[in-house]
Formats: sequence, structure tokens, C-alpha cells
Amino acid sequence: MDVGLIEAIMKRVVKDDRSGHWIWQSQTGNTQAQIKYEGKWYQVVRVLFESEVKSLKKGEKVYRMCSNLACVNPYHCEAKTKNHLLSYFPYAKLGRGAENV
Ligand SMILES: [Zn+2]
Repeated sequence: MDVGLIEAIMKRVVKDDRSGHWIWQSQTGNTQAQIKYEGKWYQVVRVLFESEVKSLKKGEKVYRMCSNLACVNPYHCEAKTKNHLLSYFPYAKLGRGAENV
């Protein structure tokens, strides 16, 4: 994992100690937090999740489990495959996960 990328991300994150949310400062609407680093776009939650929690297995995506749309706290996320998620939450809005990553 690129340390510079993590640093660039953390400069745009404000940790809210009270709620535990990590608030992404460049949030626009309902879109996933993304960052451009050395000419490439990265999904912020995915980078943080793999850096802080664990590597993702093939087919896994990072889904935010808290209700704050701007939150990128990897500990508020879980790695799930789409089928796994559907088996638990058949009505889940899958579009809210970090897609296309
Ligand atoms: Zn959160």
C-alpha cells in the first residue's frame, strides 16, 4: 500500500471522536469518496479498508455499515461479496457499496 496515498487521504478526513465517523471532506452528494493520486482514481473506503483492516479477497467489495454517507471509517465497513450481502439483506441497496473497484 502506498503510504503517500494514505497520507493524501487522511489530509481530507476529519475524525469525529464523538460519533466515531471519519468524515470525508470532499464529499459531493451521494457519490462514493474518491481521490485522485498520481493520475489515478482510488476508492477511499477500499484503500483505507485494505490498509487498516485486511486485504480484500476476489469478488469482495467494501460496504459501509453505518448511516453517515460521508463516513470513510474502515471499521464502519465490512467486506462482502454481493451474493453474501444479498443472503443477509435481500433488500439492501447494493449501489451504496464501493462499486467498480
Ligand atoms: Zn461511520
